Amino acid sequence: MNPFSYNRVTSSEAALHAGTAQGAKFLGGGTNLIDLMKSDVEQPTALVDINHIGLDTVVMTANGVRIGALVRNSDLANHPLITAHYPLLSHALLAGASPQLRNRATTGGNLMQRTRCYYFADTAFPACNKRAPGSGCAAINGFNRIHAILGQTDEGVTSAHTCIATHPSDMCVALYALGAMVEVTGPKGKRVIPVLEFHRLPGDDPAKDTVLGEGELITAVTLPTAKFTKHSWYLKARDRQSYAFALVSVAAGLEMDGNTIKSAGLALGGVAHKPWRVPEAEAVLAGKPATREIFAQAAELMVKGAKTYDHNAFKVELAKQCVVKTLMQAAQST
Ligand SMILES: Cc1cc2nc3c(=O)[nH]c(=O)nc-3n(C[C@H](O)[C@H](O)[C@H](O)COP(=O)(O)OP(=O)(O)OC[C@H]3O[C@@H](n4cnc5c(N)ncnc54)[C@H](O)[C@@H]3O)c2cc1C
Ligand code: SF4
Repeated sequence: MNPFSYNRVTSSEAALHAGTAQGAKFLGGGTNLIDLMKSDVEQPTALVDINHIGLDTVVMTANGVRIGALVRNSDLANHPLITAHYPLLSHALLAGASPQLRNRATTGGNLMQRTRCYYFADTAFPACNKRAPGSGCAAINGFNRIHAILGQTDEGVTSAHTCIATHPSDMCVALYALGAMVEVTGPKGKRVIPVLEFHRLPGDDPAKDTVLGEGELITAVTLPTAKFTKHSWYLKARDRQSYAFALVSVAAGLEMDGNTIKSAGLALGGVAHKPWRVPEAEAVLAGKPATREIFAQAAELMVKGAKTYDHNAFKVELAKQCVVKTLMQAAQST
């Protein structure tokens, strides 16, 4: 581990000031950052501890709910406003990690957590464009069972752009289906980013996971007025029933009028560099009766254009089956 300074700040303003230092990183729950520092994947020279700046409440607003960036995953999952109005988010959070980790992990940190690609997390493997830009990608010809089938950059093992990593969060998949917004503040002021645009595909810069700029601090996540309360479901397919990341996950919300779908929010996890949302799949559901046939059409659209590798071809069929099952469950009730 490299030497670093530690600065516990007590306000957003102080966090912003300290966060502009070269090599600085914000410390939330530390459940991802500290692990990566121990293995030398992350090497910040300054840690700015933001655990004492407030931003730890969930409040109802005129247009929905506002979640402070420091709200712990457990507190969020069990908050009465969330369980009553956004059970999809609660279920997704509770499907992630373990109770101990959820007690520590924050909303902002969860949004920013890094991929679980084995080659990224282990510096014994020199080729990883995300960790060491320009070094190539060990995963593409390696053990790529957990890797992306959609939205990846695949220009071959030695290209400086190739990356087939997936985003590991459960919470974020629900945020995509719910149409959340991310509030940030930084050296250039405040801005609000739709969560759909917050995470990046690898494109030609796999090192960059999100559109967050240098020194920008996530302050809150907002959710629009709830419309999927009665009909939503989160399904996580994984190797073990607990304490495992998703091979594929699905967050689905349906706004129903009798058996007719008025609108839908649908997102896949574990298949791409960011949660995967396909507007055409949601559009095909709108105005239709809730049937297995229409859900199967939406499932096909969700994986349209998929490309697989030696060890992850199973994900395409798994994703389709999971989409249909999740929509069937959501249509019945939350
Ligand atoms: C064994 C294990 C199993 C896990 N299983 C799952 C799982 O099944 N599903 C799942 O979704 N997750 C899982 N996780 C990941 C866990 O959810 C994340 O580690 C956690 O959400 C990160 O939150 P944190 O507050 O601890 O972030 P930190 O580790 O503190 O920070 C992570 C990153 O976010 C940045 N950051 C933190 N807060 C802010 C902010 N407000 N503004 C800007 N940047 C910020 C930090 O600088 C850092 O780069 C698992 C983790 C472990 C260790
Ligand atoms: S998939 Fe991405 S994170 Fe994994 S080795 Fe390749 S470049 Fe690195």
